[in-house]
Amino acid sequence: MATKTPVKPSVISVEQREAMEADGWRQAMVQLDRAQAKLGMEQFLVERLRYCKRILTVSVPVVMDDGTLKVFEGYRVQHNTDRGPAKGGIRYHPQVSLNEVKALAFWMTMKCAVVELPYGGAKGGVICDPKTMSQHELERMTRRFTSEISSFIGPDRDIPAPDVNTNPQVMSWMMDTYSHLAGHAVPGVVTGKPIEIGGSRGRVEATGRGVFYITRELAQAEGFELSKVSVAIQGFGNVGMNAARIFAGHGVKVVAVSDVTGGLYDKKGLDVEDVVRWQKEHGTIGAYPEAERVPADKFVELPCDILVPAAMENEITQRNAAKIKAKYIVEGANGPTSTEADAILRERGVMVVPDILANAGGVTVSYFEWVQDIQAYFWNEKEINAKLQEILARSFNEIYEIHKKDKVDMRLAAFMLALRRLGAAVRLRGVFP
Ligand code: NAD
Repeated sequence: MATKTPVKPSVISVEQREAMEADGWRQAMVQLDRAQAKLGMEQFLVERLRYCKRILTVSVPVVMDDGTLKVFEGYRVQHNTDRGPAKGGIRYHPQVSLNEVKALAFWMTMKCAVVELPYGGAKGGVICDPKTMSQHELERMTRRFTSEISSFIGPDRDIPAPDVNTNPQVMSWMMDTYSHLAGHAVPGVVTGKPIEIGGSRGRVEATGRGVFYITRELAQAEGFELSKVSVAIQGFGNVGMNAARIFAGHGVKVVAVSDVTGGLYDKKGLDVEDVVRWQKEHGTIGAYPEAERVPADKFVELPCDILVPAAMENEITQRNAAKIKAKYIVEGANGPTSTEADAILRERGVMVVPDILANAGGVTVSYFEWVQDIQAYFWNEKEINAKLQEILARSFNEIYEIHKKDKVDMRLAAFMLALRRLGAAVRLRGVFP
């Protein structure tokens, strides 16, 4: 008789587990699987979403200010174009990876379908640390990166926009470089540009404003008053800072904000405009003296009713999901909640309004910018905000209805809505040849 060797339990280290959790593409595919299973959709409609349509890796040589040559690696990924040209931001960060860019491109496909914009999804990034680079170095890197991806992008093909550590100035350099290569001005090649060269009014604040509009719809649907709740916002960049200002401007109590240097907490509510002034003077908010300081890694556990992660991916993981006190999470960042944390939060009855809905204000006003560039006729800010509010309110309510009717969480509801729209496009277009 064969003797059985005892089976050793498979032990994985905390680092391995965290690396698995942080795998954005795996997280994206789990979300796709859940939605496909629930909808019972035909395999051929969904299979192509498991692959990116095009992936471009480029090397970006840059002569640094001290005369040395440094070569950076950059990516542009077009995940899907079944519903229109590809659309998505460009990120500059030391932790950019192809896997992360692929996941972010996938979420852009889903996001554009959720808010019914005529776009597919894309994303790009360069592995670099912009905080250590001069403006001249950043400009040279941006121009060379743009030139390397120039045959890939274009107003009818793929339209980049700002993301982490990129801003209207970076978009101006991209637009200028592409225009020189084309031989004429092409404002519609990127969005998030300054108004002087074809940007849209309201674009800078659009993502933060969208987070606020979505939270207002949430309050209405769930029957609570925004004036009576407290909000904590992680990340004080384009999304987090603008969201904090807009919440506070509407009389909502913002009890905590944070950036990479740490968090600030005041249970009576922070003076957000004063924190913004401090940040402008000092570059960061960590040492702001008028509030209690909180370490960055404890931030999401602070007492509040609504938590808005608006920094980076995987800030909410199985390490802290059970300690979160908020009743609602409105995802300003892309992919801030790991798959494991999502399950814990569902179990605990914490409602998560997913990124592909909650932060869609940015791409929606980017779409308005592109439309205005193409027709060379520009709208005022009141019109922009009214159109943004209308699209986000409609999308929120469509998703909330699926959530109630099918008894699914809001993330699954959003993916179901996106998949139905993508599936319809695939069915109509068929498979070439
Ligand atoms: P940003 O570079 O303007 O700001 C990022 C902020 O996060 C900074 O304040 C930084 O200090 C902070 N931060 C980084 N790591 C942190 C940590 N561990 N804890 C606390 N704070 C931390 O970037 P952004 O444009 O505001 O983007 C933030 C998130 O929103 C990203 O996930 C991005 O993909 C997503 N997003 C951005 C837009 C947009 O229009 N900019 C649109 C949709 C989604």
